[in-house]
Amino acid sequence: MTQPAGSSPRLIDHPVTVERVHDLTAWYRRIDFVTVGLLSRLSLAPAAYLMIALPGAAGGRPVQRAYTIVSPRPAGAGGAGQAGGGTDLAGVSEAGQADGGPDLAEGGGPDLAAGDGLDRFSLEFVLHQPAGPASAWASQARLGDVIRVSDPPYHFALPQPLGRAWLLADSSAAPALRSILDHLPQAVEARAVLVDPHPDRQLIWDQTRPGPTVAWLSQLTAADLAGWAIDPVRDWLWAAGQRDLVKTVRGLARGPWGLPRDRQHLQTYWIAA
Ligand SMILES: Cc1cc2nc3c(=O)[nH]c(=O)nc-3n(C[C@H](O)[C@H](O)[C@H](O)COP(=O)(O)OP(=O)(O)OC[C@H]3O[C@@H](n4cnc5c(N)ncnc54)[C@H](O)[C@@H]3O)c2cc1C
Repeated sequence: MTQPAGSSPRLIDHPVTVERVHDLTAWYRRIDFVTVGLLSRLSLAPAAYLMIALPGAAGGRPVQRAYTIVSPRPAGAGGAGQAGGGTDLAGVSEAGQADGGPDLAEGGGPDLAAGDGLDRFSLEFVLHQPAGPASAWASQARLGDVIRVSDPPYHFALPQPLGRAWLLADSSAAPALRSILDHLPQAVEARAVLVDPHPDRQLIWDQTRPGPTVAWLSQLTAADLAGWAIDPVRDWLWAAGQRDLVKTVRGLARGPWGLPRDRQHLQTYWIAA
């Protein structure tokens, strides 16, 4: 499954409109967006992401942050909004109509009919403290708010042959982990670990979803991975999240596991201050 991104021209500065907000926990929020003509132009490879543009602090220069594309629902695929119900945080009269986003004012937001020609997708935000521009924006997002997204260069490839997949993520990479699990061939056995210190962390993960059970850790040390018997000839390792987590995994991949480069995909998603 090799899915290089960028087979179509890159999409830059595309408006997307908030349609619904779901609070999975007090510190983790899924936001559904509607837009026009976005998804058909993206590669939608496993764990693909968008760059979102946000106002900088105190009116400073705009900044960009990366967020994984969740549940892309192209126009015509049916199903407005996401199952499970969400919260309409604002009346439709507050719908933002500036900046070229779809106009929700007359459509009624969450109950727009399937076949309305709109693409839908979600992003999931860790609402961390101290907040940065992205988490601050997400924690205040309201129906009709418009942000602009860009499609960064992205490459994802699974090696062949593929024995087992060993997957490790923190909460910022939970959407990416889910996407990878969704895309793995059924015959591939996967072992997945999520790392998060919150007591209610399991609420960000649908425990009923098919596929491998995800094990949770409050924090990660190299000792936690001592039992990972990774085969460097057949297996594949993916890890994403805070830099120290990725560093721990990288040390093991280069050291005792002896994994070739094409059998590992390790990516820092954020850096602790
Ligand atoms: C490819 C890719 C995909 C990503 N997908 C997602 C995703 O789907 N969901 C998601 O929530 N994040 C995701 N991230 C991580 C997200 O881009 C970063 O967490 C980003 O720094 C958040 O921006 P901010 O403006 O909120 O905070 P910043 O301005 O970047 O940082 C402000 C402060 O918050 C701290 N901080 C930043 N992120 C976190 C965090 N997650 N937890 C605790 N403290 C933090 C920083 O250390 C700093 O002190 C992804 C990153 C990459 C590279």
